[in-house]
Amino acid sequence: MDFLDNYTRELFEILFKGEKREVPRTVREEIVEQYTIASSKELTAPIVCLFKRLLDFAKKDNISPISFGLDKEKLIDLANKHAQIDEHHVTVGGRVLRALDIVNKANSRINPYMEKKDLVAPSGIELWERILENKERIKRALNITEDEYNTYRGQIKNVIQDVDTLARTLKLPQKAFEDIKRVTKKYRMRLTPYYASLIMPDRLDDPVLIQCVPTGEMVDNVGIEIPPVAADHSPARLIDQFYPRVLTIKSTNMCAMYCTHCLRIAHIGKKDRIYKKEAYEEAIDYIRKNEYIRDVLITGGDAFILPNKLIKWILEELDKIDHVTMKRLGTRIPVTTPQRIDNELLDILDESNDKKPVRVVTQINTPQEITPVSKKAFKNISKRVMAVLNQAVLLKGVNDSKEKMWKLCEVIQEAYVRPYYIFNCSYRNPQFAHLRVPIEVGQEIVESMYGNISGDAIPRYIATAGGKIPLHRTNVVGKQDNNIILKKPWSNEEVKYPDADPEQYNNARFSFFKYKE
Ligand SMILES: *Cc1c(COP(=O)(O)O)cnc(C)c1O
Ligand code: SF4
Repeated sequence: MDFLDNYTRELFEILFKGEKREVPRTVREEIVEQYTIASSKELTAPIVCLFKRLLDFAKKDNISPISFGLDKEKLIDLANKHAQIDEHHVTVGGRVLRALDIVNKANSRINPYMEKKDLVAPSGIELWERILENKERIKRALNITEDEYNTYRGQIKNVIQDVDTLARTLKLPQKAFEDIKRVTKKYRMRLTPYYASLIMPDRLDDPVLIQCVPTGEMVDNVGIEIPPVAADHSPARLIDQFYPRVLTIKSTNMCAMYCTHCLRIAHIGKKDRIYKKEAYEEAIDYIRKNEYIRDVLITGGDAFILPNKLIKWILEELDKIDHVTMKRLGTRIPVTTPQRIDNELLDILDESNDKKPVRVVTQINTPQEITPVSKKAFKNISKRVMAVLNQAVLLKGVNDSKEKMWKLCEVIQEAYVRPYYIFNCSYRNPQFAHLRVPIEVGQEIVESMYGNISGDAIPRYIATAGGKIPLHRTNVVGKQDNNIILKKPWSNEEVKYPDADPEQYNNARFSFFKYKE
């Protein structure tokens, strides 16, 4: 009787509440056969299987195990055997009455996701065949050879920047093209042929299309543009700084693809500018003279637009500064133009990472942006740096549902990228007000991830408003004496959580300090 815990006692109570009944011979023989296997093998599964069946009979038809010639003695022996075999002495009652139910309940939480995820948010890997068809169509339309297509130079040389070229590669309603023509007089459009191949041509709600092809709202939305933060947060040339220990060098205003939701739209994509060496020198000089600076983000635009030689030089200059101990590079190029990730660049990252950690921060907003090609680029980068992190932007129609955002987080994690932030789409620019999502929706999406997907695939939800401000809803819902009441985001179950004893906490004479004279 040594292993009969409360769960197993409860199980026996239910089993033997039933009556002895006549059962069909075949069923009886089946159960006896199961019992023989369960008692002869040193395995737990046959025991669990037998008890589950007996439980079903007891619950559904009020049939006791006696009906199969199995008395209490026999089953107690079997229950004891289960707990003895199990490495952690888990009882058959705990497993059958509790654990399996808990797993089933958990499964039911994510059933809708499992059913819908590949339909509503297919990855570029799942769509690869169709992307390859798109690629062939675009190559023909723009007269690009396979060799040229596969190089970065070929991608940049053949960027799609005007509505007529776009019309040759993509079917859209005539009205849409007129709209794009109107908008592109003011705002730039630029798609690499590769990025354009990710657009599914038969869908007007395509999550890649929304991000790269500007629509009429960009000029029609009313509202006042609030000047970019740089105006009042740039203490030195190229530098943006909100924080004492982290700052950014805006190393270029160019990107391989211009996003319709770019929060730097005031600077980015207007006119390509090559910055002077003196500008970088002044920025690094500012960092050198400011000993508080620990972490430097080389951003843009897109940091990987810079030539390898310049990236190498900037990293080397930063590595020479003792108080700079961390570096980050911000880039969407592995998503928009993965052909850029050459061995020379990987070696540069590796060499600098060897001295002090390098992280690459990227922006992936839909799993459709993860293809076998971008995944390989991320894999290669991740082998050479400390981490590859994703900063997604929450965008209407792109990733504003649980299914889409969970899938994004899972797919990028499988592509060697860790979800880091979800940015709320900026309030500063009326140009993309039509892509904004209410904070409540964002909170619901992020909070719903806890308990349902891997913890390290869950990003933090952030508003940028003079620094990055977390938007998560708090899970502390009450206080009772010295307990706080926590709510589990995945089940809304409230749990009492004893807080640290305040008196003990305030006692400075603890641990070794208590010996202090
Ligand atoms: C995003 C950003 C940072 C970095 O913020 P983290 O929370 O450390 O990722 C630093 N400076 C500026 C100006 C930024 O925009
Ligand atoms: S990659 Fe970044 S900087 Fe470039 S257009 Fe997109 S959001 Fe703007």
